[in-house]
Amino acid sequence: MLKETIKNFVGRLFSSPARGPERLPREKHGIDRRNVSRHAIKVCEVLRHEGFDAYIVGGAVRDLIVGLEPKDFDVATNATPNQIRPLFRRARIIGKRFQLVHVVFGQEIIETSTFRANAAGDEDTDEHGRILRDNLFGSQEEDAARRDFTLNALYYDPINEEVIDYHRGVSDLKKRVVRMIGDPEQRYREDPVRMLRALRFAAKLNGTIDPATREPIARLAPLIENVPASRLFDEILKLLTCGHAMDCLRHLQAVGLHQGLLPLIDLIFEEDGGEQFVELALARTDARVRSGKTISPSFLFAALLWKLVNKRWQELCASGEHSAQALMMAADSVVEEQTRKLAIQRRFQADMREIWFMQARFERANAKAIWRMAEQPRFRAAVDFLQLRAEAREVDSVQAQWWMDLANADDATRGEMIEAYQAQNRGRAPAGAGKRRRGPRRRQARPAPSQA
Ligand code: ATP
Ligand code: MG
Repeated sequence: MLKETIKNFVGRLFSSPARGPERLPREKHGIDRRNVSRHAIKVCEVLRHEGFDAYIVGGAVRDLIVGLEPKDFDVATNATPNQIRPLFRRARIIGKRFQLVHVVFGQEIIETSTFRANAAGDEDTDEHGRILRDNLFGSQEEDAARRDFTLNALYYDPINEEVIDYHRGVSDLKKRVVRMIGDPEQRYREDPVRMLRALRFAAKLNGTIDPATREPIARLAPLIENVPASRLFDEILKLLTCGHAMDCLRHLQAVGLHQGLLPLIDLIFEEDGGEQFVELALARTDARVRSGKTISPSFLFAALLWKLVNKRWQELCASGEHSAQALMMAADSVVEEQTRKLAIQRRFQADMREIWFMQARFERANAKAIWRMAEQPRFRAAVDFLQLRAEAREVDSVQAQWWMDLANADDATRGEMIEAYQAQNRGRAPAGAGKRRRGPRRRQARPAPSQA
């Protein structure tokens, strides 16, 4: 009890800035206003015109300073949701406990929230110190102190182009050091997700975690189990789509954080070729993210879990199960096990299954089935997945390419391709799929069309 009180005190001591905030002019932060969302600027201007303070905050400021393109723009203000909403034509208040306003401009939503203070007092935390309620409006200084890392607690004023920095975040950001605001252990206990965030920002920025911020993570890793599964899913997804997914997974493993999240990661890496498969999949994802393309969570999780599904599929086939049936059973058991820790949403699960199930069908399709498959909404993803497997030398690359060409072709060309294929391989899979292919080390587990 006394220990907690001292910790709280020390935490607050740390989190209150030694002197007032630094106000950095443009030369010091280097943000080019042309890279800032005009809608976010608009929100700030309107609020400012009404006499409120308003700043762009969080990830957008961090990313702009290091020259990355922000995913989205958030605004923080001293206006309350009820004061914000009437100022915009399309704005809605969202959230129950802590309300904030979504200001909508066509496709873009500017999330606008009121400065917030941390809820103090023991009654607001669970027995591990996890904050269950934090819904008090506060000052800008309090708002800065309740943010996680110094580099995430920056406020950009787009009107006079100043950055307001309470915790020397710009300096940390330039050094690429992820440093917790306040006492790291206490802040991880309040919200264990911050452990994941620390790893993610370090990977994303190609930086490091400050030693004091890093130290408690391995020790507190089990606390991640108390976080609701749906929130974990969101964070893991952010981690896997930050453009440095493999680095993140390695960091996760190094500190033992994966145990409570993706317990199957260990198994996957133990699997023959498992690590290579995940690496290939994540490299593709990273490349897509970095070139600004969208990525599909279903594809990502289908790839992460594939080696396990494939292994069980083979085992079930070997025990005499019908191939398609075996694949379904394998998929069910892997998904069921995995989602105990991490809630993969049902719609994603359904897509993952479709991607997997089509892998069996690629092996033994006749003309009619090929047409049917090509019409399925997940066909494209499943063909991409087949490409990935070819890259991992799990299936023949000529076969994978045939399907890719089919996916890219118009209907007339498809017709020709399917006809040619039929003429060539009566009853066999397209272009060499039936050939056994040997992997570099030993024969890879491969789907077993012959057992169908
Ligand atoms: P991303 O680029 O992934 O969006 P982000 O930093 O913007 O990164 P968000 O989850 O969008 O992350 O959060 C916006 C801001 O809210 C953060 O920059 C940080 O200041 C604050 N924040 C988010 N999550 C936490 C948390 N768990 N604890 C404390 N502050 C947080
Ligand atoms: Mg953000």
